[in-house]
Amino acid sequence: MDPITIGAIIALGLTAVGSYIYRKCRAEQRKTAEIEVLSQALERYASQVALEEVDRPIVEAVRCTLARICSPSVEEKVKDMDLAARRHFFAVIVRDVSRAMDVDIKSLSFGDLGYGHLGCCRNEGFDIHLEIADALIMADPRRAVATICHELRHAQQFTSFIDDKWGFSERRKAQWMSEYAATVSEHATESEAMFFAYRCQMLELDANNFASAATKNIA
Ligand SMILES: [Zn+2]
Repeated sequence: MDPITIGAIIALGLTAVGSYIYRKCRAEQRKTAEIEVLSQALERYASQVALEEVDRPIVEAVRCTLARICSPSVEEKVKDMDLAARRHFFAVIVRDVSRAMDVDIKSLSFGDLGYGHLGCCRNEGFDIHLEIADALIMADPRRAVATICHELRHAQQFTSFIDDKWGFSERRKAQWMSEYAATVSEHATESEAMFFAYRCQMLELDANNFASAATKNIA
C-alpha cells in the first residue's frame, strides 16, 4: 500500500471514530437532558402528592390507634370472627380512626358494594357516609384497615372544602377541589383505562398516600 492510501485509510478511520464519538456525545447530552426533564416532572409530581406538615400528627394519631386495636396483628384479631363480629370489629376501627383524624361520620354501613368496590365515601353537604365491602373484611382484613384509612381521608378532603380544621394548604385544597367536581369514580370499573385514570386522580393518590403512611407499622 502506498503512503497516500494508508493516509486516506487513517483519515477515514479517524473521521469514523470522530463521528462515532460525536454521535455518542450527542446521545449522552440528549439522555442527560431527558433525565433532567423527567426528574423535574417527577419532583413536581411528588410535591403535588406528598403529605404536608399538617398530616404528620394525623398520621401519627392513626398509627397509635391502629397499633392499639390491631395488636398483635389484625389477621390474628379477626381469625375466629364471623361476619357480624367482623363488622363490629371494623366499625370500632372506623369510630376510633375517625376520632384520631377528627372527622365526623354520619353513617357507616357494610354490605355488597358491587364489582371492584372495596369501600366508598360519600358526602351530602356536611354529612359523610361510609360504606365498606363485606367481602373485603372477610377476605383481606389488612387491606380493609388500609381501605378504612383511605375512605376516611376522603372524608377529610370533602370536609376541608367546607370546614378545614386541619389547615391543609390552599394549593392542596385547590387540587382536591378541582377534581372533586370532575371525578371519574362512577366510570372507574367500566374499563381498565378508566380504572387507571381514576386511581391517578389527586384525590385518590392522596388517599392512598395517607393510607399507606397511616398503616405502615400495623402488625
Ligand atoms: Zn378513593
